[in-house]
Amino acid sequence: MSDPIRTRLLILGAGPAGYTAAIYAARAGLDPLLVAGLQPGGQLTITTDVENYPGFADPIQGPWLMEQMAKQVEHCGARIQQDVVTAVDLSARPFRATGDSGQIYLAESLVIATGAQARWLGVPGEKQLSGFGVSACATCDGFFYRGKRVAVIGGGNTAVEEALYLSNLAAHVTLIHRRDSFRAERIMQQRLMARPNIAILWDSVVQEMLPAEGGRIATLRALALRNLKTGAVSELAVDGAFVAIGHDPATALFRGQLAMDAEGYIETVPGTPRTSVPGVFAAGDVQDKVYRQAVTAAGTGCMAALEAEKFLMNAETESATDSPAIAAK
Ligand code: NAP
Repeated sequence: MSDPIRTRLLILGAGPAGYTAAIYAARAGLDPLLVAGLQPGGQLTITTDVENYPGFADPIQGPWLMEQMAKQVEHCGARIQQDVVTAVDLSARPFRATGDSGQIYLAESLVIATGAQARWLGVPGEKQLSGFGVSACATCDGFFYRGKRVAVIGGGNTAVEEALYLSNLAAHVTLIHRRDSFRAERIMQQRLMARPNIAILWDSVVQEMLPAEGGRIATLRALALRNLKTGAVSELAVDGAFVAIGHDPATALFRGQLAMDAEGYIETVPGTPRTSVPGVFAAGDVQDKVYRQAVTAAGTGCMAALEAEKFLMNAETESATDSPAIAAK
């Protein structure tokens, strides 16, 4: 087993929040270590066109933007470690994190930027057919449905974006939403309505995902639907179903150690990334259920690095004044 890695600042998560924290911390001379986690690049690696990240006149691709951020992190001198942290102990400093690899990390301060994960419907057949017709990422899996029939479930920006993306590949897209109006931005809705191969099923929920009979491996055949207003049940034959109903913050690791709200978002002192434990900061989607944008995540990542710098400076000054050698002077 290798020796513990000691660092002044450990950053967990490789999305816009974590990368931005690493850039600022490296430039402040904190020599941060960023542990990338399960999905390096974060949610933007599973999105397509990004038009609202400032600095780019033309649309850019999410995965490209994240590659650029990773390169910028390394250019600024921060280290990126490919590991997944599976346990943390925030009860005393240095904070202790344990990686999947068995590596122990000891950190004087911590930025949590672990983001959020896709939410699933939890209906029969969904888990069994995941990867065999059921997906939560059109950019990752849309390619497999060229010329086929697909459905997207949800009514937010993600669902509409996924439906638009899939309409360029699939023969036909049905967007299934549980209400009679979208949550998605108006401009996205206008684009959706303009696509001839997208149909919208309002007031409808998926009750079950049905596999094809026979065949060695079960694949999706159809969705069992229920109309919430009429109670009518029906079947929609599809080759692929994309669940796009939002996300849950990736905060299970910190449960019981940091103050969180009922939905598991880390609570921070309003207007700051400070958590309930001094020296631990939260940035990006783990602490933001309102804005949830790449640019706001990056902004809070910057704030977390600046706060960590201030915290370390105070902590190091205090420990220097407490040390007997200095006190004797
Ligand atoms: P969201 O805005 O929370 O929308 C989730 C959608 O899923 C809602 O329409 C919701 O229905 C529906 N839903 C939730 N649970 C469901 C269930 N169990 N069964 C059926 N439907 C269910 O999530 P999001 O679309 O992932 O967007 C998250 C955030 O990211 C938003 O702030 C969004 O603006 C942002 N975003 C931005 C962009 C962009 O700017 N390009 C792209 C993607 C996302 P109800 O409406 O009935 O609640």
